[in-house]
Amino acid sequence: MMLTFGTNWKMRNLGREEARTYARVVAASLPQLGETQLFILPPATLIRDMASEAAGSNLLIGAQNFHWAPEGEFTGELSTALLKQEGATIVMVGHAERRSLFGESDEIINRKLKRAFEDGFYAVLCVGDSEPGMSAVMLGETFSRQIGIALDGVTPAAPGKLIVAYEPVWAIGEAAKGSPSGDQVAACVDLIRQALERSWGGAGREVPVLYGGSVGPGNCRELVAGTGVDGLFVGRSARDPHRFVLLIREALSVLAKT
Ligand code: PEP
Repeated sequence: MMLTFGTNWKMRNLGREEARTYARVVAASLPQLGETQLFILPPATLIRDMASEAAGSNLLIGAQNFHWAPEGEFTGELSTALLKQEGATIVMVGHAERRSLFGESDEIINRKLKRAFEDGFYAVLCVGDSEPGMSAVMLGETFSRQIGIALDGVTPAAPGKLIVAYEPVWAIGEAAKGSPSGDQVAACVDLIRQALERSWGGAGREVPVLYGGSVGPGNCRELVAGTGVDGLFVGRSARDPHRFVLLIREALSVLAKT
């Protein structure tokens, strides 16, 4: 399975030149990273600039948010058609901040996924447990619900078109309460794969599962070694493109051995 690494920039106020340089640095690193796919989710106004830098490479540029309707009276929203026009090829659904701050429910995520796949996009589906120390039963129920509803009635997409990011809500961003151990990640990834298989059968086994939440140079090895992940989804530690590439290299060196 192709290893995948991505970053979500959230609402960072970057200039166009800075964004272009970032995309150029990351795209230029790709030939040395083997069969690896990368994606960057900048604020929507930077997509066009970054997509033009990434053109022709294995670096996908896309959106953190979009509306499930093809078009219409949805003030302030962006459609997949508008995003496609900017050069976006990937979209994200279910990020913890979208769920908690903007009311993105599993049902909304389901509608968005249907739209994304209908329009040919790659989609990153974020799932995660809300508190540290949840029992295996509760974790299983959480992932079953999040994945079961998200994929309800969604025809299995072509291999690689759906990427699942396991992001424990309590391990994300500045307010993180820490990060899980490698064993905890392995157990959750296993439960996520079971849920994917229940929804999509054999195609569910082909879905790449990434880990995200406070990944950095200090814990990258533990989070990928033997945990069953197919890559990483990075926030703060990917703010600098060179550091992001170094982190990817470190993860790849571990994944190559596991
Ligand atoms: C995120 O918000 O999805 C994320 C992974 O952030 P960080 O790496 O900064 O915890």
